[in-house]
Amino acid sequence: MSVRQREKLLLGSPMESPSLCLQDWVAICWEHFDGVVIIFINNEWHDAASKKTFPTINPSTGEIICQVAEGDKADIDKAVKAAKEAFKFGSPWRRMDASHRSKLINRLADLIERDRAYLAALETLDNGKPYSISYLVDLDMVVKHLRYYAGWADKIHGKTIPLDGDFFTYTRHEPVGICGQIIPWNFPLLMQAWKLGPALATGNVVVMKLAEQTPLTGLYVASLIKEAGFPPGVVNIVPGYGKTAGAAISSHMDVDKVAFTGSTEVGHLIQKAAAESNMKRVTLELGGKSPNIIMSDADMDWAVEQAHSALFFNQGQCCCAGSRTYVQEDIYHEFVERSVERAKSRVVGNPFDFKTEQGPQVDEDQYNKILGYINTGKKEGAKLLCGGNPAADKGYFIQPTIFGEVQDDMTIAREEIFGPVMQILKFKSIEEVIHRANDTKYGLAAAVFTKDIDKANYISQGLRAGTVWINCYNVFGTQAPFGGYKASGQGREGGEYGLTPYMEVKTVTIKVPQKNS
Ligand code: NAD
Ligand code: MG
Repeated sequence: MSVRQREKLLLGSPMESPSLCLQDWVAICWEHFDGVVIIFINNEWHDAASKKTFPTINPSTGEIICQVAEGDKADIDKAVKAAKEAFKFGSPWRRMDASHRSKLINRLADLIERDRAYLAALETLDNGKPYSISYLVDLDMVVKHLRYYAGWADKIHGKTIPLDGDFFTYTRHEPVGICGQIIPWNFPLLMQAWKLGPALATGNVVVMKLAEQTPLTGLYVASLIKEAGFPPGVVNIVPGYGKTAGAAISSHMDVDKVAFTGSTEVGHLIQKAAAESNMKRVTLELGGKSPNIIMSDADMDWAVEQAHSALFFNQGQCCCAGSRTYVQEDIYHEFVERSVERAKSRVVGNPFDFKTEQGPQVDEDQYNKILGYINTGKKEGAKLLCGGNPAADKGYFIQPTIFGEVQDDMTIAREEIFGPVMQILKFKSIEEVIHRANDTKYGLAAAVFTKDIDKANYISQGLRAGTVWINCYNVFGTQAPFGGYKASGQGREGGEYGLTPYMEVKTVTIKVPQKNS
C-alpha cells in the first residue's frame, strides 16, 4: 500500500462506537494504520530512514497492536530541516496573521472534537486507561487547552518603554523558533496538546517525539493538523525511542528550545545535552512524590475519596500523584480503615467496560517496576493492608495496594512508584508535617485537607511545591500554571505563564529626532 493510500486511511471518518469490544478496536486500528504507523514530516508520511519499525503494545493483553516507524537521528534531522524551512523569515507561517494562527488551532480543536470517540478509543487501546476517562476527561481537556491557547494567539504583544535621552523603545514578543517537544505516555493526547497549544499560539514550529509506548493517538492528530490547514513543516511528529530520537532533539544544534515531560532522570540528561550543544532553552516537567496532608478536622468522607483518587487516578501514573498521604494521628486508624475499604472496592479490568475505574499499567517495564516497589515496601517493614499482587492472568493489571505504617526513610516513601500503590504515614503536629512533606528532592504538588482556613493557608505557604490544592486534588484548568519546584522541573505549562518559555523578548530602540529638520 502506498504512503498516499495509508494517509487516506488515517483520515477515515470518526467512529461513534464506544461499545465495540477490544478486538474490534485492534482490527480497526490495523485497518486504519495498515499495520504500520509512520512518521509525519512536512505534512507528509514517511517511513523511517533506517526502515526500522517497533511494536506498540496493548497493555490490556500484552499483544502487539501494530508496528510503528522507528524514527532516530536521521529522521529528527529531516524533521528539523522541514521545521527550519517553515520558520524562514518571510515564510507563510511567519507572515500569517496571528488571528489566522488562532483559527488554525481552533480548527484543530474542532477536528479533535469531531473524532473524539475514535481518539478516545485509540488512547485506551494503546495506553490502557479506562475509555470513560479518555473520552470524558482527557479529550475534554485536550480540546479546552487548544481553544484556550488559540485565544491567546492574537493577544501577544510587548511594551513601549520611555528611555533616558532621545530614544524610544518597544519590545516584541517573538517565537523562540524550532521547538523540540518530548512527551510521555501517561497522558499522550493531553501532553501533546499542552505542548502544541502555547508553541503554536506564539508562532513557533515544532518537532515532537512521541513516547514509544503510546504513539498512535499523536500520529492520528498529525493527520488532523494537516487537515486543519497548518503549512507544511510547522508541526512534525516522529515516533521513536528516547535514547535515539529523543536524544537527537535535545542535542540538536538547530533546535532552539526543548520542552520535556517525563522522569527526573531523563530531565538531567536533557539539560546536560542542551548545555553541551547550543544552550537551547529548556523547560522540564518531571517526577514527584507529592504529600497529601489530612488534618484531623477534615471532612472524612471527602478526604478519603479525594486521597484515593489523588493516588489511584490514571492507574497511579501521574506525575503529581498524592503518593505520601500524611494523616493526623487522632484520625489515622479510621482513615486507614476507610481507605482500605475504598481501595478494595475499586473496579479493575477491561478499560473498555464503563464500570472500570482502573485499567492496566502502560507496559511490562512499569508493571515489573511497581511490583518490585511493592516487594521493597514489604521487605523494609511497611504494613501491606490490601492488594500487592497482579490483578489478572494476562495484561499488566495490578491490584490497588495500600501500605500503612510507612516511615519517611523507606524507599516507597522516597521514590516515585508511578503505580496504584498508596503510602499512608502518621503525623502529630503542623510544623512536623510541613517539615516532613518538604523533606524530598521533589516539589511538584501537595494538598491539605482541613476545615480551618488559617491552617490551610499556613500549611500551603510552608509547602515547597508548584501546585497546592486545598480540600481538593488533581484539579486542573487550562488557565492555571503547572510545574515543579526543585527536581520536579523548570518552568510552567498552562495559563498565561505557559506562554513565556515559547517567546523571546526583542528590545527595539529608536532614535527620536528632537527637531523637525
Ligand atoms: P522517560 O523519562 O524515560 O520517558 C519520557 C519521554 O522521554 C519518552 O518520550 C522517552 O522516549 C523520552 N526519553 C527517554 N530517554 C531519553 C533521552 N535520553 N533523551 C531524550 N528523550 C528521552 O520515562 P519512562 O522510562 O517512560 O518512565 C520512567 C519513569 O518516569 C516512570 O516510572 C515515572 O516515574 C516517570 N514518568 C513521569 C512522567 C511525568 O508525567 N512527569 C511521565 C512518564 C514517566
Ligand atoms: Mg502501547
